[in-house]
Amino acid sequence: MHFQLDAETEAYRAEVRAHLHDVMTAEFEERLYRSGVAHDDDFAKGLVDKGFFAPTWPAEYGGQNRGAWDEQVLQEELMRSDAPMYLSETTRMVAGIIRAVGPPAMKDRILAGAMKGDVTIALGFTEPECGSDVAAATTKAVRDGDAWIINGSKMFTTNGHIADYVFLLARTSPEKPKHKGLTMFLVPLDSPGVEAQAVWTLSGERTNITFYSDVRVGDEWRIGDVDAGWQVLSLSLQDEHASGWGPHIARLLTHAEQWAETTVADDGVAQIAKPDVRRRLARVAMDYEVSMLLQRRCVWMVEAGQLPVAEGPMAKVFSTESLVRASQDMVELVGPDALRGFFEPSAPEQGRFEHLMRFSVGTTIYAGTSEVQRSIIASRGLGLPR
Ligand SMILES: Cc1cc2nc3c(=O)[nH]c(=O)nc-3n(C[C@H](O)[C@H](O)[C@H](O)COP(=O)(O)OP(=O)(O)OC[C@H]3O[C@@H](n4cnc5c(N)ncnc54)[C@H](O)[C@@H]3O)c2cc1C
Repeated sequence: MHFQLDAETEAYRAEVRAHLHDVMTAEFEERLYRSGVAHDDDFAKGLVDKGFFAPTWPAEYGGQNRGAWDEQVLQEELMRSDAPMYLSETTRMVAGIIRAVGPPAMKDRILAGAMKGDVTIALGFTEPECGSDVAAATTKAVRDGDAWIINGSKMFTTNGHIADYVFLLARTSPEKPKHKGLTMFLVPLDSPGVEAQAVWTLSGERTNITFYSDVRVGDEWRIGDVDAGWQVLSLSLQDEHASGWGPHIARLLTHAEQWAETTVADDGVAQIAKPDVRRRLARVAMDYEVSMLLQRRCVWMVEAGQLPVAEGPMAKVFSTESLVRASQDMVELVGPDALRGFFEPSAPEQGRFEHLMRFSVGTTIYAGTSEVQRSIIASRGLGLPR
């Protein structure tokens, strides 16, 4: 096993990096941050035009038939530049599920638009009363002739106020055991009876609570069999659980190194010359290195035909918890100035230290909390009893 990337993959990385260097300007980043929405239509379409939207998809769907390592370096670069990807990612993930198990008419209706950046899809799994235990969902879908009537609410429907559709988990058979009475739907978010209310998070990002009151959708919007929602959902959870967040540590490290190289302490000594500063920077660098190795091990396993059932969660837990630890440590190192706000002109490194510290906390929650990931590692990886 080795993780040395070949020259072609590195050339692909350079292409992605050059594009992101052109489009991820400070003005664009600030506009995104102030809007609280990690999505921009023109940015997403720019990725489509460059072939960076779904490079591993087959050419017939608008992809480039690229391999998993190209996808990995693309994700590394997007994360490292903090590109506004969440809605594009959820769209691509759901499009992948539609491609695999969606009805033919839905494939015709959704896939081409999704791959061009014209159709967007948010995720509607979490509810006000259940998040980690997704299968406890109580939002109901009741059959009415050839349609379904949906009632309930979903918490943290990120981008639910701007997306075209929501990939919604609903209970169709309340009398069955909880995992067996669920069905997945693609609900048009402009349907009468849908409402999205803003929920602001610690990192400054807007997510939503969405309400569904007698929302009527035709049976053609069902994905998978009735009561087979858990199997359909599992396809997406597997993807989510395997996410690594190491490139955000690289982002932090770059700013911390820049700060250390350009700042002189009160005693007249450059910060970078101080042993404590170097020791702390080195620790962040090690966390980054291990995070990337864990993530790349998952890519290697997938390439080798194995499923990283426990290795994906290991990459997620290690990288996100390292990011939390490292961003807090860098704020302590830089001192009170590090708490100056993101994009405040007087803040060191444009205020990225305080923002990364706020941002890092959410990464240990979404896409499966650290506790849930640890349970997967223990039970499915180590074979320990539940
Ligand atoms: C910013 C943000 C964006 C999000 N975006 C989306 C989105 O777009 N779509 C969507 O559907 N969801 C989204 N989520 C929801 C996210 O996936 C859930 O918040 C997460 O699954 C946790 O659920 P919860 O908040 O209900 O917490 P809970 O499940 O109530 O957990 C509370 C605490 O208990 C712990 N816990 C729970 N169960 C166990 C267990 N079995 N063993 C040990 N500990 C346990 C958890 O780890 C946590 O510490 C988002 C969340 C955030 C914060």
